[in-house]
Amino acid sequence: MAFEEILRQTRSLLCLDCGKCTGTCPVTRVDPTYSPRATIERVLAGRPEELINNDHLWACLTCRLCTTRCPSGVDYPAFVVAARVQARGTGVEGTYAHNAVMQELMGLMTLPVKQNRTGWVSGQMRTAAQGEDFYFVGCLPYFDVIFADLGVVSTEVARNTVRLLNRLGITPVVSDDERCCGSDLLLNGDEVGFRRLAELNVRTIAESGAKRVIFSCPECYNAFRNDYPRVIGPLPFEVVHLTELLAEHVGELGLGGLEETVTYHDPCRLGRYQGIYEEPRALIQAIPGLELVEMRKNRAQGLCCGTTGWVNCGQCAKGIQITRLRQAQATGATRMITACPKCRIHFTCALNDVGEEIPIEVEDLTGLLARSMEE
Ligand code: SF4
Ligand code: SF4
Ligand code: SF4
Repeated sequence: MAFEEILRQTRSLLCLDCGKCTGTCPVTRVDPTYSPRATIERVLAGRPEELINNDHLWACLTCRLCTTRCPSGVDYPAFVVAARVQARGTGVEGTYAHNAVMQELMGLMTLPVKQNRTGWVSGQMRTAAQGEDFYFVGCLPYFDVIFADLGVVSTEVARNTVRLLNRLGITPVVSDDERCCGSDLLLNGDEVGFRRLAELNVRTIAESGAKRVIFSCPECYNAFRNDYPRVIGPLPFEVVHLTELLAEHVGELGLGGLEETVTYHDPCRLGRYQGIYEEPRALIQAIPGLELVEMRKNRAQGLCCGTTGWVNCGQCAKGIQITRLRQAQATGATRMITACPKCRIHFTCALNDVGEEIPIEVEDLTGLLARSMEE
């Protein structure tokens, strides 16, 4: 897509040069040289090469916080992603975290590879190979291996999700043939790889006979709900995030009491991207004895977990993560609950860096609900 078209489609042509985006941006707070306003102005002035060859192209978290304040409705994250596709076309890429292992994995999954993605399923769980409800697990089994040193067991989220679904009488399909949703490839500017993963996933799900796909990861959910239809057309099934489904049936979960004080971190792709703020809170508040306390920045004003797309993770990401963890600590909560497996990984990584300095635990919402079901 030419830059003129990117400017038009993302409403960047209407930019008023007011700087509200820059004043809101969490990246700018840590790195004052970063300015979404100035970036748009450069491209409007006909100098897109200054963006393509600038590290700031990869600094945006695509968190959408700036869009909550822009008076012209400019979709800056969409502008950035489209610009990254252009940059990649000229051979320019960001600096990948973890020696690009995630990018390598995502690339491999575009090929006809055989995978073992369901080794986490245990005997007491009810899952199926064919059926009406498909549970899209995402890359949790790979995260277990890659982030073993952080002590985060991401497949706990998958196990707890199946337990919660089973409690509602749902026996979900899980599949070894699932691929990465591709969201991170798109954020890296690889639209070709993203399209390939989207096609493979839709084919796998359609072959299972599923009419509804349930997601525990907000990024996977956002990819299916917003990006897949845009790139490959309408989907032949319904999509729903786990928190939406559980909130509708909260009375059937049989939640038991937990005497704890927790706070809730809104993942960008569940909150600002989907408007899902109240369902996770309703689930937390349904636990008898548990107190939910809000951080100063919550819901649409919530702070991002500091990094996306496994790209450009450095001092700036750590600064944002520590700020968010301190906001959680200030509430007096002993746990920060999130509904995104990636937020959990990034925050745990930051906590490992600061040691005992911030005495708070990060837990996925599925873990909290599963503990409550056991009471
Ligand atoms: S807030 Fe919107 S109008 Fe103002 S500088 Fe940023 S993009 Fe432009
Ligand atoms: S999307 Fe987030 S990180 Fe990117 S410019 Fe806007 S506020 Fe900053
Ligand atoms: S914050 Fe996330 S992306 Fe960055 S080093 Fe830690 S685990 Fe990797």
